[in-house]
Amino acid sequence: MTAAAANGQKKLIALTFDDGPGPYTNRLLDGLAERNVHATFFELGMRAEEYDQTTRRIYAEGHQVAQHGYDHPTLTTQSDEKVRWQIDHTRDILNEILGQDFTYYVRPPYGDCNSRVLSLLNAPAIFWSVDPVDWRDRNADTVRDRIVSNAYDGAIILCHDIYSTTVDGALMAIDTLKAEGYEFVTVNELFRRRGVTPQDGDRYSSCKPTGTQTEAVSAPTVSAELIDGRMKVKLTADPGAAIYYTLDGSEPAFYGTRYTEPFSYPAEATLKACAAYDLNGSRSETITKKLDTLGIDPTVCVQDGKLVFTNQNENAGVYYTTDGTEPTTNSRCYTVPFACYDGVLRFCALGENVSTATQTIYVTAKGNLFWDVPNTSWYFHNVDTAVALGIFNGTGTYRFEPDTGLTRAMFVTTLYRLVKEKGMDVSIKGAASFSDVPAGQWYTDAAMWASENGVVLGYEDGTFRPERSISREEMCAILDRLLMLLEVKTEGAPMSFADAGSISDWAKDSVARMSACGLIKGQGNNCFAPKATSTRAEAATVLLRIYDLIG
Ligand code: ZN
Repeated sequence: MTAAAANGQKKLIALTFDDGPGPYTNRLLDGLAERNVHATFFELGMRAEEYDQTTRRIYAEGHQVAQHGYDHPTLTTQSDEKVRWQIDHTRDILNEILGQDFTYYVRPPYGDCNSRVLSLLNAPAIFWSVDPVDWRDRNADTVRDRIVSNAYDGAIILCHDIYSTTVDGALMAIDTLKAEGYEFVTVNELFRRRGVTPQDGDRYSSCKPTGTQTEAVSAPTVSAELIDGRMKVKLTADPGAAIYYTLDGSEPAFYGTRYTEPFSYPAEATLKACAAYDLNGSRSETITKKLDTLGIDPTVCVQDGKLVFTNQNENAGVYYTTDGTEPTTNSRCYTVPFACYDGVLRFCALGENVSTATQTIYVTAKGNLFWDVPNTSWYFHNVDTAVALGIFNGTGTYRFEPDTGLTRAMFVTTLYRLVKEKGMDVSIKGAASFSDVPAGQWYTDAAMWASENGVVLGYEDGTFRPERSISREEMCAILDRLLMLLEVKTEGAPMSFADAGSISDWAKDSVARMSACGLIKGQGNNCFAPKATSTRAEAATVLLRIYDLIG
């Protein structure tokens, strides 16, 4: 198992197809749909005009549409005006076909590019890192073997869907690589999942693990609320994702209205909805729901170590499962509170004309409930323990946001709580502190305590920068000073990280000590990733280790 997999992070890979669409593209799309795999298509404008229905299908099925110029020119030999025409004209054709107003990632034909061309694209330039040379060697087995043997986590693979042999070879490669644990994503998703935002005029050819990784886009959940005596539909999605919906049965990725607030609905309406960070290549599957069967979501809470449901639906009961399966009227029906346990809880209200969306929540024997801390994740027990000890709080009702980056304010607050929990003196003298830490904020006491005790030094200009995310090397420096304050002895050992050279000078000794005593471990590939942002799940793990270390 690789370190990335050990961290609960999937290996991601992006298949890309250039020069189409063509006569074999539909067969490729069938194969991708069978395998539930998404890819990116760098289309030529002239082919998109000819294969407009295929282009609509590519987009409808959740792949990313990107562009490759109008007729496959060498861009560096063209005038500024002609380069712009190739890009702008193709963008207009694609927008006309899709009925959208997108800009599209560009792949310069032949990879032929220079700084002048880059500055004219008004889009990120996407190259590749694996090239099976499928245009030259028209043999499906060869194409498969080259993709499989050169694949790695974060690779972007160059293929051409205008060759029948490539369609076969790519589909075979997908089967092999999926069995090796790879998840196929669009280029857009590859970067989004790893916290990278491609910039217009910059070139990209891969996206290796960055130390942070978010999940795939979840489909929105549908619930109902009684607002001023009227039943209204409420849609919920992952933080930061937009929701698009239609009520006439049409496809929301094409015709959707952006959801802003709960809405009332006509009788017998059918809702279709998807969640998206970007409709083009970064969206969830589309859900369909007949709204006249919509009930009010039951809720669950913990009282005296037992799970208690609240149900406002008349003529409907709460049905639940604890084995991860979808609840039905054959599942257990809730009657009395029952004990918490480590595992998953799925529940909904079912009855005559009522069926609410199934909710999935993770329950812990310690009495915590989480929407977003799966019991299969590597951090489940760490987060559970840290929250149960009171040294790390959630961010909302049953939300922990494990993949969200940790800010400096959050980090010193957790240290402050931990030291307090250990019964140590955390009184504050109240001397002038950082210039950007006003009185009365949730982190004010923690920041002042950290400053007065030399745990946090702040920046040269006297600021603390509470909202800034904390990097792994900064975390080491702060922990090192905390342990010194607590008189816990740590010894450095020579570091063997492959990226030791990229650790800032001021952090080198701290990283050596913190990694030697096992507080902050490397990230796999024998890398420390000093500049990567620490996630909340990682921080909970580190805090638990300190909690044990300081006894
Ligand atoms: Zn090409």
